[in-house]
Amino acid sequence: MDLDTLKIDLKGLKEGLNSFEFDLDDAYFKAVNAPEVSCGSVHVSLDIVRTESDYFTLDFHEEGTVIVPCDLCLEDMEQPFETSQRLEAKFGIEYSEEDDLVTVAENEGILDVTWFVYEFIVLSLPIKHVHAPGKCNPAMIKALEEHSATRISEEDERKPIDPRWEALLKLKK
Ligand SMILES: [Zn+2]
Repeated sequence: MDLDTLKIDLKGLKEGLNSFEFDLDDAYFKAVNAPEVSCGSVHVSLDIVRTESDYFTLDFHEEGTVIVPCDLCLEDMEQPFETSQRLEAKFGIEYSEEDDLVTVAENEGILDVTWFVYEFIVLSLPIKHVHAPGKCNPAMIKALEEHSATRISEEDERKPIDPRWEALLKLKK
């Protein structure tokens, strides 16, 4: 998709309701260089109401599926989600964000919602995401268990020597 379509020309909007639809795909997630989500398929509807006094209310609705690593086996898994969020915007001298109110530089009049859309998706994902029971990759689970087992025994070996023993060893020398 063309990311420029997520740059909303507020000045060009008519008073009242303006509706937009976007379909985000893997190219979107690559383009935002997303840390948590690297691919997915998401439908976004955005309703913007412009008042006579140039105040903007943006209602986002996003739903779809993103690919995230499973917390248990670390393999990719599909995480479905649905979320609605609201932003408000007005014109000002320069760009700033305060809570859910965005001030857009009036001489440009453009509000880029690319990153907002991404944040809303990530906020709506459950903190813990795991495969359905039995759907984890068994080989990965086994490898991870073995790995954590070796880690523990290495820690045992690194335990500091009892200071009394250390004193005795010195005496021997
Ligand atoms: Zn899993």
